[in-house]
Order: sequence, then C-alpha cells, then structure tokens
Amino acid sequence: MIRSDHTTDQLYHILENCILCPQECKVNRFGEKKGICKQSDNPKISSAFLHHGEEYHLVGRMGSGTIFFSGCNLKCVFCQNYEVSHLEIGDILSVDQLSKLMISLQSREAANINLVTPTHQIPQIIDALILAKERGLEIPIVYNCGGYESLETLKLIDGYIDIFMPDIKYFDDDYALRFSKAKNYTFIVQQAVQEMHRQVGDLIINKRGGLLPEDF
Ligand code: SF4
Repeated sequence: MIRSDHTTDQLYHILENCILCPQECKVNRFGEKKGICKQSDNPKISSAFLHHGEEYHLVGRMGSGTIFFSGCNLKCVFCQNYEVSHLEIGDILSVDQLSKLMISLQSREAANINLVTPTHQIPQIIDALILAKERGLEIPIVYNCGGYESLETLKLIDGYIDIFMPDIKYFDDDYALRFSKAKNYTFIVQQAVQEMHRQVGDLIINKRGGLLPEDF
C-alpha cells in the first residue's frame, strides 16, 4: 500500500543535510562532499538479476528479483560484497531507469523485488518504486539491509515495504564500532527491528512456498 508521494519530498529533503541513517554524516548529498556511504543523490546499482542463491523462501520458481545497490552505510571488514559496498562498483541510473529495472525483473517472473543494501539510497528507491507501481509493479518488495537504520527514516517508508530482512551482525557495540564503524549498533538495530515488525508483522509461508507478511 502506497501512502503518499509527499514522502519522497521529505526523504529527498533529508539528503540536503544527510541524516538518512544513524551515521548522521550531515553532508549535502546534492553537492560534492560525500558521507560514509560515499553516495550522491542518484541511485547507483552494481547489478540486477534473478537470484537463485537468496534465502530459500525468497527465490520462488524463477528467482528473487535482486537489485544490488553500490556503497553502504556500514564498513564491515568481513563484507562479502567488498567491491560493491566499499569500492562502490556500479553504474549511476536515473530514477526512471531504476523503476524500469523493477518492471523488467517482474516481467521475467521474479518472485519479488529484493533491494540489497538500500539504506543509503532510500529516497531514490521510494521514488522509483512509486513510478514502478504506476507502471504495474505488484510483486512484494523486500528490504534486505544491515539493520543499521534510522527509526525516523523507517517510519517515513511505512507502507512501501512488504518484507524486511535485516542482517543483524552484532550484540556488542565495541565489536560493531571496531569491525563495521557503527556506533551504538545494538540499541539502534533493536529499535529498527521493532519498527519493521510493527509495520509488516510476522512472516508466513504461503501456499506457493514463498514468504509474505501476514496481511499481504
Ligand atoms: S546515508 Fe550516507 S551520507 Fe547519509 S548519514 Fe548515512 S552514511 Fe551518511
């Protein structure tokens, strides 16, 4: 369920003094300076494809329509996607192109749109998502993140995401700071997960073997 296009205005406004995520870099993402995620105001994508190696219930018959976003708001020393998240390998797309990419994955019978590392590109993603819904996108939207999310930003995207998949990495703040450059990780991630659960509820396995929230 989409609430209001006004949400994108609010989200883009945050980019002007970026506190989109708990890193709170306060840089202007429309200018030259970069924050920890090193991204600007445009969506940057490293790849998009039908992923058969995702969590079993996300894969469905034809694969999960996975979109890998470049850059990351965490700096994990153990990152398995180092080239994408740390070296930011990828191409800058327009919002229109990102929306068409979502439609193209759906037309290839993707089970869902699986947004991998979306946190630092939420305004552009929601913008593209609204456009894609107008163009007929109707498969579930998966938010596949590292759990280091701003509560305020999550509240703004209430209604846009069907399945949250936070990859919780620590229950020790010292380790989180040392190995991922994330302050106050445990409190933030617990708050984030509670908000995610408030928005979509528990997951159920549907008759086709896929994952959907209770009321989908
Ligand atoms: S989204 Fe990027 S620039 Fe904005 S606060 Fe997070 S890491 Fe910093």
